[in-house]
Amino acid sequence: MSVEAPEQVRPDLLSDTTLRELEGQTERQLWATILPTATTQGATGATLRLVVERVVELVRSATSRAMTLGAALAHSLAPSAVLADRRAPTAAVPRLGFLGLSGSPDRPAGGPTSTLPTPGQVATTVVSQGLEEEVRGWLGRAAAALDSLPAGAPPERRMRRLEQIVRGLWGHTVTRLHRLVNAGAVWFSERFEFGLLWHTRNDERLCPSCWAMNARVLTSARARFAAPSGEGIPALWEGFAGLPPLHPRCRCFVRPVAR
Ligand SMILES: [Zn+2]
Repeated sequence: MSVEAPEQVRPDLLSDTTLRELEGQTERQLWATILPTATTQGATGATLRLVVERVVELVRSATSRAMTLGAALAHSLAPSAVLADRRAPTAAVPRLGFLGLSGSPDRPAGGPTSTLPTPGQVATTVVSQGLEEEVRGWLGRAAAALDSLPAGAPPERRMRRLEQIVRGLWGHTVTRLHRLVNAGAVWFSERFEFGLLWHTRNDERLCPSCWAMNARVLTSARARFAAPSGEGIPALWEGFAGLPPLHPRCRCFVRPVAR
């Protein structure tokens, strides 16, 4: 098995710009969905309950885009010669039509052509993550927290509490965006029979846990990474599922490698 360095791609640049754009836009939309209602109707639990479905829709739409983005990023990082081979045109496949056969049943003749998941595949993945129920539950608890403030609490105090809640919700959402970016990269890698490489941003924000995962390789995109262990590695985040993110706000992602 070899790990090929992708040529002429700058993964950090690419993911930084596109992913940051998606993150920035989603964060602005989150504030714009909640704040105006709180300004006119008060920072109360009732206000949060009023906007729940709009927030759910916002998270659904952003995470769907994140998965497509992840597949596109993986495509741009895939070793191009290997990818071209796996997308070989149908004409190259031996014609067995006269026997009523059309090539191997587990590998479609000519290889897959689309490098992006269909809207249906994206929707299935997003639903399987249970994000909607998670957001509803999160906002329900936040609404209860706002309701538990004393009846006479000044409006400014209520507003500060609401702003804390929106910041917390954003932290929760950005981690889900990263999870779906990785789901997209895994979708692409599985489809074109690549393995996975754990890629870590090597900067001043890098933590020991993520550093322990850096450059680890799986030979199948269906496999999952074992958790890091050793000295200086804190307890494992309960949300870790064998792929990045390793912890809330983790910026690691997987990319395809030839196997
Ligand atoms: Zn990380």
